Amino acid sequence: MINLSSKKISIIGAGKSGTSAAKLASHMGAEVLLSDSRSDIDIINISNINVEIGGHSDKVLESDFIIKSPGVSNNIEIIKKAKSKNIKIISEIEFASLFTELPIIGVTGSNGKTTTVELLNEIFKKAGYNSILGGNVGIPFSDNVLNQILRRQKEGIHILELSSFQLEETSNLSLDVGCLLNISEDHLDRHENFQDYIDAKLKIIKLTRDNGSIVYNKDDQILKEKINNKEAIQFSYSDVSKINIDTKAIHLRGKHNYSNIAAALAISNVYHIKEDIIINVLKEFKSLPHRLEFIKKINGISIYNDSKATNIKSMIAAIDSFPDNIVIIIGGLDKGNSNFLSAMKIFKDKIKFVSCYGESGERIFNMIKSDFNCCYNKIFSKAVLKAISNSKGKNVLLLSPGCASYDQFENYIERGNKFKDIIIGLT
Ligand code: ADP
Repeated sequence: MINLSSKKISIIGAGKSGTSAAKLASHMGAEVLLSDSRSDIDIINISNINVEIGGHSDKVLESDFIIKSPGVSNNIEIIKKAKSKNIKIISEIEFASLFTELPIIGVTGSNGKTTTVELLNEIFKKAGYNSILGGNVGIPFSDNVLNQILRRQKEGIHILELSSFQLEETSNLSLDVGCLLNISEDHLDRHENFQDYIDAKLKIIKLTRDNGSIVYNKDDQILKEKINNKEAIQFSYSDVSKINIDTKAIHLRGKHNYSNIAAALAISNVYHIKEDIIINVLKEFKSLPHRLEFIKKINGISIYNDSKATNIKSMIAAIDSFPDNIVIIIGGLDKGNSNFLSAMKIFKDKIKFVSCYGESGERIFNMIKSDFNCCYNKIFSKAVLKAISNSKGKNVLLLSPGCASYDQFENYIERGNKFKDIIIGLT
């Protein structure tokens, strides 16, 4: 393990993962500078950690290496300066991995990461593993690694959700399993172009150790074209029909969730986990909050909160999960210049009403209005009420916005909770 005493480390971004990396670095003996461009953040008071807020000073450039938080863009001045001075920049993930010898399963993809890693974590726990869930799922990897060190934990397995941003800056990581769920356009506001985004996702292959397992979705056209590693393990949503479970007993719904289950099955097979353990977990595992989450049935209409559907593919996956008679709420902040019409047209018969909202709402409304029964209201709650008043006699009322939430909300959770409040308030 690397000794950091007498090393100077700067961390750009004092969010959750940056702060965790700072604590880990400080525990390992480094002198840490935690630097953030924002001024309105809570400052941690830990020995060996200096904090600067409201901008990145040139002190950052005095460090032996820099850890970049996943939320920080590569295009900011301080990163450019550091690169020109040849200061090594690594991701929080790579940094944390230097201090653990436990095996790591990494899962990436445009959609389904959280669902898949949460499911895997349940399966591994039931199979007797000391599994540790972290990464993009909300618990920084550095936190888990520090806890592991403090507890002197020598056995277990890390299950890591990896975003494209986390992969982008990671050059070394020795994954036991690297899993790719799917690739579709997302985050084009942060990545230069779609090819860049694809490359970041495919990087997980390089980050899987020799003799490790690469696991990917063979139903995904891009992955099928791009991955030609003969040893790689393929999975398909149809694999779920090969296990001994009545599909009615599975709570997760939709082909996209079967795909996530199939990924978990393929990874579990690498570790020879018994099928009956997986089946028992599947019988209990419910969809996570804000991901095609069933809220309640009112007057025969089933209402679902899928606020986490922040791109077109996840919105389509939601529509595809119901046979007919759907009323849907879409809009918010569009990360690309997405073509909602071409995405929705194939479902024309089953979508009975579309309520558009938010910054992207008017553009989407104008795009789809000649093909769909629809309306536009800038304000989210108004759009929800319009959707409700147009759902009489329909089967499903669905919030699956296909856009990010940041124009009116802190995040997708706040948006989903607002939706739930309105629905619960109806009764
Ligand atoms: P991520 O962590 O990749 O954002 P989540 O499991 O949180 O994935 O799900 C995000 C959104 O994508 C939800 O709306 C969910 O219903 C949808 N989704 C989940 N799995 C898939 C999949 N395999 N393909 C398309 N959409 C999916």
